[in-house]
Amino acid sequence: HAFVLSHAREDAYDNRPLSIGHGQTISQPFIVALMTELAAPGTDTRILEIGTGSGYQAAVLAAAGAEVYSIEIIAALAEQARERFAAQGYEVRTRVGDGNLGWPEAAPFDAILVTAGGRLPPALVEQLAPGGRLVIPINNARGDQDLVVLTRESDGSTTRRNVLPVRFVPLVRGAAENLGDD
Ligand code: SAH
Repeated sequence: HAFVLSHAREDAYDNRPLSIGHGQTISQPFIVALMTELAAPGTDTRILEIGTGSGYQAAVLAAAGAEVYSIEIIAALAEQARERFAAQGYEVRTRVGDGNLGWPEAAPFDAILVTAGGRLPPALVEQLAPGGRLVIPINNARGDQDLVVLTRESDGSTTRRNVLPVRFVPLVRGAAENLGDD
């Protein structure tokens, strides 16, 4: 409830997505749990999240012991999430920018979670450690997305596993002006 808008607090424990403002939503808790499990956070793991949003997914990863980096393209959301991390005592490194580019200075990552859906950003695959997992909703021919886990093998090749159909807000490319506002 500390990560949703004040008028949505009573709904925070329902298993459904909630608006977080700026036309964006936080995933239903089941999806946050599933993506966390697929990322397998723990002490000595370094995880990058694309789409900080409310900050909730990043806080869950940090609570599991991971060193967490998170990028958000909407500055106002990033700022609000930073305040929540400070207030709740979570250490999350944040950046405002285009997550399609990843965070090369902090790479390689044991897992990268993309919490917006679209196409596969090649830079993110490059920033995975050997054995690292990229968990990402990728557009499919049916008009929704498949939640995909791409694992980078030690020889640099990747293996792909489709987990389940999902519907995330779009992963925008480039400038934040492309975004709707509310
Ligand atoms: N993980 C969030 C939910 C995020 S909703 C949470 O726990 O609340 C998806 C977020 O991705 C939105 O905040 C949106 O602004 C952001 N986003 C979309 N495209 C992006 C991009 N290219 N780079 C970084 N963030 C992006």
